[in-house]
Amino acid sequence: MNYDTVIGLEVHVELSTKTKIFCGCTTEFGGQPNTHVCPVCMGLPGALPTLNKRVVEYGIKSGLALGCSINKVCRMDRKNYFYPDAPRNYQITQDEFPICRDGYIDIEFEDGTKKRIGIERIHMEDDAGKLLHTKAGSLIDFNRAGVPLLEIVSRPDMSSAEEAILYLEKLKGILTCIGVSDCKMEQGSLRCDLNVSVKPAGSEKLGVRSEIKNLNSFKSLEKAIEYEVKRQIEAIENGEKLFVETRRWDEENLRTLSMRSKEAANDYRYFPEGDLVTLNISDEWIEEIRKTIPELPHEKYVRFIKQYNLPKYDANIITSSYDVADFFEETVDICSDSKAVANWIMGDISAFMNEKNIGINDTKITPQHLGNLIKLINDGKISNAIGKKVLSEMLENGKMPETIVEEKGLIQNSDESAILDMVKNVLESNPDNVAEYKNGRTNLFGWFVGQVMKMSKGKANPKIVSKLMKEEIEKM
Ligand code: ADP
Ligand code: MG
Ligand code: ZN
Repeated sequence: MNYDTVIGLEVHVELSTKTKIFCGCTTEFGGQPNTHVCPVCMGLPGALPTLNKRVVEYGIKSGLALGCSINKVCRMDRKNYFYPDAPRNYQITQDEFPICRDGYIDIEFEDGTKKRIGIERIHMEDDAGKLLHTKAGSLIDFNRAGVPLLEIVSRPDMSSAEEAILYLEKLKGILTCIGVSDCKMEQGSLRCDLNVSVKPAGSEKLGVRSEIKNLNSFKSLEKAIEYEVKRQIEAIENGEKLFVETRRWDEENLRTLSMRSKEAANDYRYFPEGDLVTLNISDEWIEEIRKTIPELPHEKYVRFIKQYNLPKYDANIITSSYDVADFFEETVDICSDSKAVANWIMGDISAFMNEKNIGINDTKITPQHLGNLIKLINDGKISNAIGKKVLSEMLENGKMPETIVEEKGLIQNSDESAILDMVKNVLESNPDNVAEYKNGRTNLFGWFVGQVMKMSKGKANPKIVSKLMKEEIEKM
């Protein structure tokens, strides 16, 4: 039998606010254990939470960027569970009235087709502390307790690992762009729970899902989907009954392991958080926040294709970093040759950045450098080959291209009489090759041109060399 895969993702992102969600402690990553804490985030008796307004702002901002409607009346709830990483024995989260609902992300496949993935809800909540199990015993660090999180819950709309990865990449791009989170998976500021099930191909009814907790890289997401789909299909084919369960990813052995079944799971006994008031969000505030949303990555991509006539491939690379996109636009303003700018950035400049592992703004060149360089080439003052040399020197010492060209005497030679002398010289000193050329080995033409270029140390204008060479050789 054939099966369809059904995937829904629950994504947790840590918000990049300066302070925690219910107290003034810093949200900074790391630090000596239990130094970023106070009675509120330690859950000491009598300590009262105060909601950080920035968290609500970031929640709204994320919702707007993800096409959600904002619940203007929303509330915090207590989710009760007993575990050493939860200092109060409950998490403050949102149950029935989350801040955002009904959004979407459009993913685009390589062949250009698109698919819309629904977002069911986004809610605000606090992160738990971190447990560390050592030989000497279990330790707890509350520095992370109270760091604000948004949980973004997708609809079960994805049907392959490819789609899940496209969704997560795009979500990450949008959230980073609007500045609500740095989305560093390796530091845990973006964590992903995978819900996956299989069903007979074409069937309407969803299968029994398992939830795989805390995947922290694209690779593990992909591998976990692969493994889990195979496991579930095998179980069904063997006549086993699947049940809703929570599993964890075993990175070393590339498999999922059962943690608990949902039936046996906690009853969280949600109820309204009595220490915080219900929020009433005004339309004015929502509109103010809307104005702070910059051009989103996919909007930039579409605009670059249209405005700069870039191939999709180029637009995708250039817009994948905001710094690079800005650098590109400023350079095009200077030299008006978008394709040349894209080529230089994607070629020699990217190679340099990769080699040094730095961003474009950490190099010694500015849009003015690159724009002027392209103008020198387009005006016929230097050849493309010399341009490459000039660029590599600019990257090393930050000098302007005109300065380098002048200091090194690299100006292209377009003086026809000087070039004609060299052409004649090459032809006269290579009579054997001329004879062969005349006998039909016409591909020697490139060799003749090459000799002149060499003689001129690369500075002769290659177009003029070709033209004169053709004229002279015909005369012979
Ligand atoms: P819970 O809090 O129990 O994890 P939620 O309703 O918050 O449940 O979210 C469950 C996630 O699982 C959502 O992302 C949803 O899209 C996804 N999901 C629900 N049913 C299925 C299913 N049958 N197969 C795969 N994913 C599913
Ligand atoms: Mg869940
Ligand atoms: Zn605190």
